Amino acid sequence: MKIIETVAEMRKIRKQLAEPLGLVPTMGYFHEGHLSLVRRARAESATVVVSLFVNPTQFGPQEDFESYPSDLQRDLAMLEEEKTDIVYMPPAAEMYPAGFCSGVEVGRVTEGLEGEKRPGHFRGVATVVAKLFNIVEPTRAYFGQKDAQQAVVIERMVADLNMNLEIVIAPTVREPDGLAMSSRNIHLNSEERRAALVLWRALSLAQQLFSQGERQAESIRHRMSALIQEEPLASIDYVSIADPNTLQELDSVDQPALVSMAVWIGKTRLIDNILLER
Ligand code: AMP
Repeated sequence: MKIIETVAEMRKIRKQLAEPLGLVPTMGYFHEGHLSLVRRARAESATVVVSLFVNPTQFGPQEDFESYPSDLQRDLAMLEEEKTDIVYMPPAAEMYPAGFCSGVEVGRVTEGLEGEKRPGHFRGVATVVAKLFNIVEPTRAYFGQKDAQQAVVIERMVADLNMNLEIVIAPTVREPDGLAMSSRNIHLNSEERRAALVLWRALSLAQQLFSQGERQAESIRHRMSALIQEEPLASIDYVSIADPNTLQELDSVDQPALVSMAVWIGKTRLIDNILLER
């Protein structure tokens, strides 16, 4: 496994790498969700590149950039275990040298949900992902359904800007009790960890209501919100039932629908989602 830190070295070695090349962009502090992407890339690619970069531009001024968890030695050992070929881990100054002033702006699909609650977040994400695509030139890039809006934004960017690669979206990996794996779960104390299950309970309720024939989106949102509000440690940022492609809020759920939410558990903001389908 080779570790590369500069754009110049990545470009140089890229010419010799076997195709197809699978790229897994990450911010590190790996869990089984990340590893599922690396394994999928490994199964489908001759060369696997994992990028590890905590991108400062996708964090708001009040957000957790400074406290974002990291354990580089553990991460590298896990990647080695998964037979990763290359870890691309540039310092921030390599990605954003003095004078840097460009960005990728994706429209409509960034306006609601995370985009509304985290202004500038998706500009940061789209810009860094576009840069990684230009630097690594992957055949395919792998993202998780856990970050549902991010997946839509990246697919939109690739289609709109004619980027020459395929995007693969892999299912959300969960703890045995249903909590979606996230690097941020490490911040939860044992009481908060228990309270965090309310996200999965709310998503399960949505699935149950839908299965029983409920089609009114507002009724499902309302029941989910009421359930979350019963948990004293939880505070709702948003609960959404939206079209999975346009991310427009739905009145009626008679098509596939993305049920997504952001909920604060103490000082930790968690997101999760499921797709409702008949
Ligand atoms: P992050 O390091 O949080 O930026 O995540 C890197 C990639 O892993 C993103 O494409 C995420 O959507 C994906 N990911 C994070 N958590 C999970 C999960 N629980 N299951 C599947 N993919 C995930």
